Amino acid sequence: MKKTRTRAFPVLLLTIAFFVGIAYFVFNLVIHSAEWASMPTNWHLSDNEGIELAGSVLDRNGVVLAYTENGQRLYNEDYSTRCACLPVVGDSTVNNSTAIQTVYRSDLSGYNFIFGLGLPEQYKSGRNITLTIDSKVQKAAYEALGYNKGAAVLYNYKTGETLCLASTPTYDPMNVPEDIETNDAYDGAYINRALSAAYPPGSTFKIVTAAAALQYKSDIDSFEYDCNGYDELGGKPVTCYEPNGHVNLKEAMKTSCNIFFANVAVDVGKKHMTEQAEKMGFNGSYKWDGINIGKSSYDVSKASVNELGWSGVGQYKVLETPINMAVISAAVASGGTPMKPMFVKNISGQFGVPSADKKSEKAKQMMSGDIADRISEMMRACVEESYGEWVFGTNLKICAKTGTAEVSSSGEDAHGWVTGYSMDDEYPYAFAVIVEHGNSGYRAAIPVAAAMLQAAVESDKN
Ligand SMILES: [Zn+2]
Repeated sequence: MKKTRTRAFPVLLLTIAFFVGIAYFVFNLVIHSAEWASMPTNWHLSDNEGIELAGSVLDRNGVVLAYTENGQRLYNEDYSTRCACLPVVGDSTVNNSTAIQTVYRSDLSGYNFIFGLGLPEQYKSGRNITLTIDSKVQKAAYEALGYNKGAAVLYNYKTGETLCLASTPTYDPMNVPEDIETNDAYDGAYINRALSAAYPPGSTFKIVTAAAALQYKSDIDSFEYDCNGYDELGGKPVTCYEPNGHVNLKEAMKTSCNIFFANVAVDVGKKHMTEQAEKMGFNGSYKWDGINIGKSSYDVSKASVNELGWSGVGQYKVLETPINMAVISAAVASGGTPMKPMFVKNISGQFGVPSADKKSEKAKQMMSGDIADRISEMMRACVEESYGEWVFGTNLKICAKTGTAEVSSSGEDAHGWVTGYSMDDEYPYAFAVIVEHGNSGYRAAIPVAAAMLQAAVESDKN
């Protein structure tokens, strides 16, 4: 009897191990199968087996941006449209981790959970993906960025639909440059800067500091400052480009007085500055429409008094993605709570079966409605009384804030920023533009925003 038990025990163990193994395999199959089917090594858009079946990528107006013909992945026939849309669509590799052809590859290749990719040819079919992107707006932003490196975002703050996510440098997916890995002109061409790159925000961050002041600094409405262009905070300098004279909050926003906002940041303090920044998208991880967004960061835990001051004007170690900047403007436009940006409007069923359009949803509240209205007034004054309405080249009522962000200790030209939105109900666009080393938000970034806004209005009319 004892002998039988000794023999039966290993058999029992083996049996248990067998079932545990099966359960583990099934679990992984369910969780990871779509991912495995579309791994780079199993990339059915770039090899010939299965590429006939890959679906198309279209813009919001039905313009075909990528498709498969005779076993080849092809892109829009217009060279500029191809280059402009590459950062969003991607090429036939998975080099760009945020591109639609990377993130949505199992949909494009027609992955089906029951049959995987192993269906007989006649039953296989990829899905078509219609983007929220407007290729005309994308092209206008790409052309306005020109040879500069940078990014331009425009999205509808009422629906969350993103019309433009331009990023330069880019390249032609039908004719990938041979020196793409070695030539500095293509530096970062595999990322979409609008989503993945974080830059010092400079004066555009004054929107965040103003929100923090209105929330946490009870005497902000009586707080005034005489700016002669130079002051010291914590024994070290804070400076303005020019003396801004006697300013209150609204005047300081309009004249972009650094010293005013540096003092405000110090008065608000590390804890509340950090709380407000985190409400407005900093220090968090976001995934919108299946796409991972780069991290915007505000960390003053080790900052001196002087550094805390500089953080209030978007310098020190503050970093922000262009898309987050556009979402902050959308929040100001929408009474404090923005819509989450979306990039994909529709994914068709297999075999051309139509499916319902996707809808976006609200993100978390960034500021109260009262604070949003106050900041809106200030951003409107920036355009009406400082930049000039004409600079945006449309009939839209624009609210905006520019920024010129020093690039720490590199001796290179500063980055130029602008962010803002249209108050027009018919064209509810929020936007953000960065031109790397553009040296001035006003001169370098506003013209790109203007080109993008004009193209969006024009395209919407047609
Ligand atoms: Zn000043």
